Amino acid sequence: MQEKNPVFKKPILITKPVLVDLEKLKIQLEGVWNSGWLTNNGYKHQELEARIQKEIFNNLPTSLVVNATIGLLLAIKTLKIKGEVITTPFTFPATTHAISWAGLKPVFCDINKKTLNIDVNKIEKLINPKTSAILAVHVFGIPCNVKEIERIAKKYKLKVIYDSAHAFELEINNKSIATFGDASVFSFHATKLFHTVEGGAIVFRKNSLKKKCDILKNFGISGADVIACGINAKMNELQASVGLLMLKEKEKERLRRKIIKETYINELSNIPGIILPFNNNEITKESLQYFAIRIDANIFGKTRDFVLKKLQKNNVFARKYFYPLCSHHQFYMYLDSAKNQNLPIANKVVKEIIALPFHGGLTIQNIKNICNIIKSLKK
Ligand SMILES: *Cc1c(COP(=O)(O)O)cnc(C)c1O
Repeated sequence: MQEKNPVFKKPILITKPVLVDLEKLKIQLEGVWNSGWLTNNGYKHQELEARIQKEIFNNLPTSLVVNATIGLLLAIKTLKIKGEVITTPFTFPATTHAISWAGLKPVFCDINKKTLNIDVNKIEKLINPKTSAILAVHVFGIPCNVKEIERIAKKYKLKVIYDSAHAFELEINNKSIATFGDASVFSFHATKLFHTVEGGAIVFRKNSLKKKCDILKNFGISGADVIACGINAKMNELQASVGLLMLKEKEKERLRRKIIKETYINELSNIPGIILPFNNNEITKESLQYFAIRIDANIFGKTRDFVLKKLQKNNVFARKYFYPLCSHHQFYMYLDSAKNQNLPIANKVVKEIIALPFHGGLTIQNIKNICNIIKSLKK
């Protein structure tokens, strides 16, 4: 499959987990071993929760969880959401699955062609008496239209949850993105910039919700009683130890990714048919989670799949991401809202999107070479 003389001799992958210093981790773990407290809101959990609440989330009530998928489910349960939930098809399967695992019905809404997030102009016509919430995603760290979503939610008395898996540290107008909605769920999976190997956090608008969530994530146990049908969604002390080291480590990775992003933008701007990530000037701090472009085949002259194949032949493993749409998974096809004619923009974008390698292990020259492969296809 490779070209005779591939531009890269070794595979370039889309991401690479940030590894914390093993010696420093050993010191953290010695603390855990000495305490003999491995999970159930131990010292490391308490410290990490307090620090990210203060340092990242403007002191909004924060609850650590075992991963973001269970976090989404927990947020739905904490908010007592019922019936139908309006959501986006252009996301990772976890978003839609969380709705289904809660026994609710996902209702797909089309996306905005610039932001790739849920199209706020198409939400209202999907609302019916069974609708109780909106579950939106800040795709690739571009914020949703949070003000308009809030207006709609108020008008129809709906709850709002944001899948913020791509939005750790994202700020708009100097406010944490977690300021918006009833709950925001962040992923600390190894593929995310800030991670705890597996893990996540839910940030709530109200402290009473965090308190409820903390009971639900520990089997529903409150004191000596079991007061709700809970689950086990606790982050353990090993995960939290990695997280505490990552708080410092992430800064270096962020600096590297900033330079990589700038290089991509410099190299790929003003090329007809290449659509760069939407530039929202309300963003005052970026999440730097992904870098995805779109190939408009009519203008560029080559399809996304052609570009992807050419990159692969040169050892660059860019990805179709997200692909396929959640509305194309066979077990969601029964939904009326999953029909292609209801989701024209999402169906167009899913054929154009391509997530490029984006991690701190790449050099500026690597990025220039990747861009040159793409540019060489434009005749
Ligand atoms: C990574 C991701 C998730 C899942 O997070 P986990 O912590 O792996 O459960 C959910 N939604 C989106 C958009 C993601 O990118």
